[in-house]
Amino acid sequence: MAIAVTGIGSLLTNDPELGTITDAAVVMEGERVAWVGPSAQAPAADERVDAGGRAAIPGFVDSHAHLVFAGDRTAEFNARMSGRPYTAGGIRTTVAATRAATDEELDANVARYVAEALRQGTTTIECKSGYGLTVEDEARSLRAAANHTDEVTYLGAHIVAPEYDDDPAGYVDLVTGPMLAACAPYARWVDVFCERGAFDGDQARAILTAGAKAGLTPRVHANQLGPGPGVRLAVELGAASADHCTHLSDADVDALASGDTVATLLPGAEFSTRAPYPDARRLIDAGVTVALSTDCNPGSSFTSSMPFCVAIAVREMGMTPDEAVVAATLGGARALRRDDVGRLSPGARADLVLLDAPSHVHLAYRPGVPLVSAVWRGGVRHTG
Ligand SMILES: [Zn+2]
Repeated sequence: MAIAVTGIGSLLTNDPELGTITDAAVVMEGERVAWVGPSAQAPAADERVDAGGRAAIPGFVDSHAHLVFAGDRTAEFNARMSGRPYTAGGIRTTVAATRAATDEELDANVARYVAEALRQGTTTIECKSGYGLTVEDEARSLRAAANHTDEVTYLGAHIVAPEYDDDPAGYVDLVTGPMLAACAPYARWVDVFCERGAFDGDQARAILTAGAKAGLTPRVHANQLGPGPGVRLAVELGAASADHCTHLSDADVDALASGDTVATLLPGAEFSTRAPYPDARRLIDAGVTVALSTDCNPGSSFTSSMPFCVAIAVREMGMTPDEAVVAATLGGARALRRDDVGRLSPGARADLVLLDAPSHVHLAYRPGVPLVSAVWRGGVRHTG
């Protein structure tokens, strides 16, 4: 079954040879892209959809989200917006609610937010554990995530579990031992919150190294709340991405530029905590590959909207509209080491988003406006 979307006013392919094509068409065959080119030359297809001059982009790739949780933290957000600073400790509220939830409740929560993201154009989403912090609660969190995405990350090292307040070393032993053994079968990635108030550089190194030995590839929450060793550790260990990158030294930027670790920027977190934004311009000018993601979580960034992140990145982080949309699609794919998503060219997965706009620049130009009008994921139309 071939579907041709024709009359695309502006098609962002993220393919170095195809670039952005005007008056374009995309032919999807099954779950893959079969053909991309000028609309007038589109081959015959079983079904034809006229885009009517609307712009099309690859589906967003959200490479950083925390969707396995229960409860919410409206009161905390409300208090913070009244002047209280954000600290890593707020995570405990969600840990308590998550432990008290049933498997079905956790699964339904993931399903709800994956669907919410899909309606906003996100066709690939990563999902972390990290609100269970016991062997069984982390393992069931990952099972819930794995029901809805292939990009599953073991984040037993989100914070030290409350039971280990007086024995953080004992918690690291648990995370690198029995918890890892129970979780590794469900995950592709291992992550650690390397930050004051969470895990220091030595603890993070032990956790990521143990995860890698169990077959998981590292990614790191690094340099969000202040300077620290996270970014350089990520590069040294060959992590797929260093996430947040808000407080960077020149040495951090040099390390990112010299390795193949992607810098994943999460402006929803700075927005929701009234913190200074990361300097995307500095990273891009240094030659670092940048991704944009939501960090969707109930505490510090409760948005699933990639268009919102694109708009903020352009307004506050020095990115051009082109750079921001590329970072939210191709950048995310690179952060997940995927070459089948984040682009629209033959062979890619047929993840296509039609925008109620003549150009993808409108994602930043018209902030807050719901421009996503149709979404195909793997060749299947989900909205519009
Ligand atoms: Zn996060």
